[in-house]
Amino acid sequence: ALAERLAAIDLRDCTSLPVLRDSLLNTIDEYLQANPTAANRSAFEPFFFCEALEFAVPRDETASNLQELEDGIWKMSLQTLHHYFINSRLRLRLKTNDFSHWIEDSLQLPELAKRVDRIDIYVNTLEDLRRRENLRRGYVEVKTPLLYDVDTYVPSGHYDNYRDHMFFTSSHGEEREFALKPMNCPGHMLLFGSQLRSYRELPFRYAESSTLHRDELGGTLHGLLRVKHITQDDAHIFCSQEQIEDEIFGCLDYAAFLYDLFGLEARFELSTRPDHKLGTEEEWDFTEGALRAALERRGIDYVVNEGDGAFYGPKIDLHMTDALGRSWQMGTIQLDGKQPERLGCTYMGSDNREHTPYVIHRALFGSLERFIGILLEHYGGDLPFWLAPVQAKV
Ligand code: ZN
Repeated sequence: ALAERLAAIDLRDCTSLPVLRDSLLNTIDEYLQANPTAANRSAFEPFFFCEALEFAVPRDETASNLQELEDGIWKMSLQTLHHYFINSRLRLRLKTNDFSHWIEDSLQLPELAKRVDRIDIYVNTLEDLRRRENLRRGYVEVKTPLLYDVDTYVPSGHYDNYRDHMFFTSSHGEEREFALKPMNCPGHMLLFGSQLRSYRELPFRYAESSTLHRDELGGTLHGLLRVKHITQDDAHIFCSQEQIEDEIFGCLDYAAFLYDLFGLEARFELSTRPDHKLGTEEEWDFTEGALRAALERRGIDYVVNEGDGAFYGPKIDLHMTDALGRSWQMGTIQLDGKQPERLGCTYMGSDNREHTPYVIHRALFGSLERFIGILLEHYGGDLPFWLAPVQAKV
């Protein structure tokens, strides 16, 4: 895996920070040549040494002695860097349980900031990666509200089926009740349905990573792995029936790219039609067939969970096993032919008639909080250099 190759670089062979940087980038290049499915190295580059450079080059120095100063610092810093590298590995041997109860503390922000260590850096690094890749893969970043009129969740089915896990609130002087969104789907469907769409616009890919609130029971909270406010790398792809296979393939390709960066091995599970389902057997034959075809085209081994799909469509779940042997779900790719209809999403087809699009709900990291928890466990705190909260200090 890439992480192992990067960790195998002997820092003592690197005579300066730029040499180390080149060495890291060469390793990535070699890796990418051997693994052509991974994307270009620009996905990594910006992470390197930003912090080291910040520290190494005082801003008030004049240009004339900057080079001299820089040279001195590079040489002097190597030993420091090496020490730091070793130290940071030890220091980062955190168990995710160290972050336990952070949701309860979120009303006391300074305390929270201490407790969660530098989680902002992990989140921002993953966010940068996500944004850049989304742009490359044709997603449109959107920002939909956190708070909705409760009526929004009636047609979506959340009010009937998910109410116990939702937070509710009210407004002064209004009778209406509001709810914090537990999922982005209704917002994205309202956005899609807010204007007349043409088949020419499909596939339409909305991406958003806003905070979602879910009222998980106290006993089920588990460090970073299960929290009450989560950040999902969520997206909804609106497409026609013929586009399903290609779009699922795109999601699988994206997932493989991401997991490969972290040396994570995912297990893919295809869940098929349940007993209580919407739609005809023929429709399910088609949609399940499209998911299978995409998995096989991408050369992915998968297991089938017969009857485990959602009532509105089949899905592919992505799981991994952490260093303690526990299985966690990371991403999910779900096909949905029902919610878009309930929320009034339509597009004009080439036949000049209105059609309901399919929607693919997909999150690949899953939640950033859980993914960070999984990474800390996976690496045993021994994070790859480019993801370490502090890479180098002088
Ligand atoms: Zn969704």
